[in-house]
Amino acid sequence: MEDNIVIKVENLTKKFGDFTAVDAITFEVKKGEIFGFLGANGAGKTTAMKMLIGIGKPTSGKAQVAGFDVFKNPEDIKKNIGYMSQKFALYDDLTVKENITFFGGIYGLSRKQIEEKRRQLVEELGLQEIVDGLVGALPLGWKQKISFSVALLHNPKIVFLDEPTGGVDPITRRQFWEMIYKASSNGTTVFVTTHYMDEAEYCDRVSIMVEGRIEALDTPNKLKKQFKVNSMNDVFLKLARNIE
Ligand code: ATP
Repeated sequence: MEDNIVIKVENLTKKFGDFTAVDAITFEVKKGEIFGFLGANGAGKTTAMKMLIGIGKPTSGKAQVAGFDVFKNPEDIKKNIGYMSQKFALYDDLTVKENITFFGGIYGLSRKQIEEKRRQLVEELGLQEIVDGLVGALPLGWKQKISFSVALLHNPKIVFLDEPTGGVDPITRRQFWEMIYKASSNGTTVFVTTHYMDEAEYCDRVSIMVEGRIEALDTPNKLKKQFKVNSMNDVFLKLARNIE
């Protein structure tokens, strides 16, 4: 795999019985890139993402993630990536501090490293007032921002975000995206699914899945030109209409 390519997928396919949920998708993602993975409900995004993070075995095709093969080395992939979604985030019944310590431990950080990271996080996110409070008592936006930082604790090469800002207010979403930009500028690749088309505009490149296939993949500007529309929302609608 070329040095600056961190995800390389070729004809990756997942079938559930006779049903093909992911149908021979092919794409590459570069180091530090913010890659938007879009599609209507049921298009196959989650199924594809599960294969890429090493928890869903593909039916056929090839994929390398962070330098490791999804068939041969799924455990190595898990160590080299971060993951967060709305469903898999922090423990509500632990404090912010305890969550950081817990996940730092899981990711194999030493006590000293965890301590350092925790201090850094408290400083950067302004967590002084809430670090000893239960995560369950925090507003969703805060939970998601802290959860994203926790997914980056072990400096993974790639972070996978599955609808990270679902249900979060626009200001907090904007702050969340500032954090995404920062991670990207530090060289972390960000692979993100979203249903918010304004967020699609923030990505370096966007792929749009329709019924298991990638029907479009390019920068937001090129996609708008290709489909002769002014927004990613219209690109998305045009693709969805084509299949009706
Ligand atoms: P959403 O935006 O709603 O999360 P998605 O694009 O992530 O949708 P998937 O969850 O990947 O879509 O589902 C793709 C298709 O595969 C759906 O039709 C779903 O019903 C089907 N599917 C997913 N998991 C299974 C499974 N374990 N067995 C059978 N079918 C499945």
